[in-house]
Amino acid sequence: MSATSGQGLPEAGGEGTRAVRAGLPEAVKHEPTLPGPVFAAHFHLPGEVTGPYSYGRDDNPTWTLLERAIGELEAPGQDGVETLVFASGMAAISSVLFSQLRAGDAVVLPSDGYQVLPMVRAQLEAYGIEVRTAPTGGDAQLDALDGARLLWIETPSNPGLDVCDIRRLAEAAHARGALVAVDNTLATPLGQRPLELGADFSVASGTKQLTGHGDVLLGYVSGRDPDAMAAVRRWRKIVGAIAGPMEAWLAHRSIATLQLRVDRQNATALVLAEALRERPEVTGLRYPGLSDDPSHKVAAQQMRRFGCVVSFTLPTRARADRFLDALRLVDDATSFGGVRSTAERRRRWGGDAVPDGFIRFSVGAEDPEDLVADVLRALDASAS
Ligand SMILES: *Cc1c(COP(=O)(O)O)cnc(C)c1O
Repeated sequence: MSATSGQGLPEAGGEGTRAVRAGLPEAVKHEPTLPGPVFAAHFHLPGEVTGPYSYGRDDNPTWTLLERAIGELEAPGQDGVETLVFASGMAAISSVLFSQLRAGDAVVLPSDGYQVLPMVRAQLEAYGIEVRTAPTGGDAQLDALDGARLLWIETPSNPGLDVCDIRRLAEAAHARGALVAVDNTLATPLGQRPLELGADFSVASGTKQLTGHGDVLLGYVSGRDPDAMAAVRRWRKIVGAIAGPMEAWLAHRSIATLQLRVDRQNATALVLAEALRERPEVTGLRYPGLSDDPSHKVAAQQMRRFGCVVSFTLPTRARADRFLDALRLVDDATSFGGVRSTAERRRRWGGDAVPDGFIRFSVGAEDPEDLVADVLRALDASAS
């Protein structure tokens, strides 16, 4: 069984409706609405090998339902879009890069993207692949496209929250014969739908807001081209970077509340950004939903929601550490997108080219007034 989108769900209808029903099988009397996880390393398989479920590294019915659910959100009403789930976002990203690129190919990666990409770059180069980089903002990727086989974009970028024009870049890349992949982690499929904007792959970590509870690692790839997706599927089989059935089931269960979580978290992110804008100690405030943010114009063209991450800089590392310490409702932790707010001083990892006092703040589902009060109180408390 292939996990194509749009099955059993009316194309029209709101996104909340789509999210709660996404990927559900036909109702069967006495069966649960969302069948439980199928724990199986192998399936009964007498005689000839036919049908999808034979060995647990190739396919699993719990993945199939989740893959349909994600497909219905990434490409509602579109036939022929296939979705594959993976053990993590990095498994999904690597599966696209390493299945589509060969020695001698060139790829364009973001210079300001997810912090593991420099390690991926080193591995690609070790395999004889030419890696070019370009920053996310300002569509600088256009100058690096000639002769490239794949353009990789991350928009909004993590953690800088720059945005690029997916449609424009996809058209330019396709005109030069390059494929386009978009890391859709931060936006989620309710924030933007890269395949509709012309991308060949929408790739994401489901660890973040898609599942939203900070208890699951997951990744996925959605794509329209059957040959390209067959190569991605083959890579998953070779590397064995597969999601556990329990994780896949938890993810599917979590998607039912995706619209509720995203709407709440994103609305509060805007309220928090507006409150931070009034603070003299805050510089470099970024949130694509702020009407005067450098990303806002392009973001508003292609995004329907602007994400739950706000970034800003405090004057010094010590001030940032005191601020994080003083927060009561916000955990000092990495990752983002969960129902409980988290924040971290991003520079503690090395990696990202951000100032010492740079904070990446992930807004959770707390009451907005409680969260904003906690942040303002912690800013005051960290002043001395
Ligand atoms: C977290 C993240 C990843 C990696 O996902 P994992 O599930 O941690 O492997 C990739 N891209 C972006 C933008 C991320 O934020």
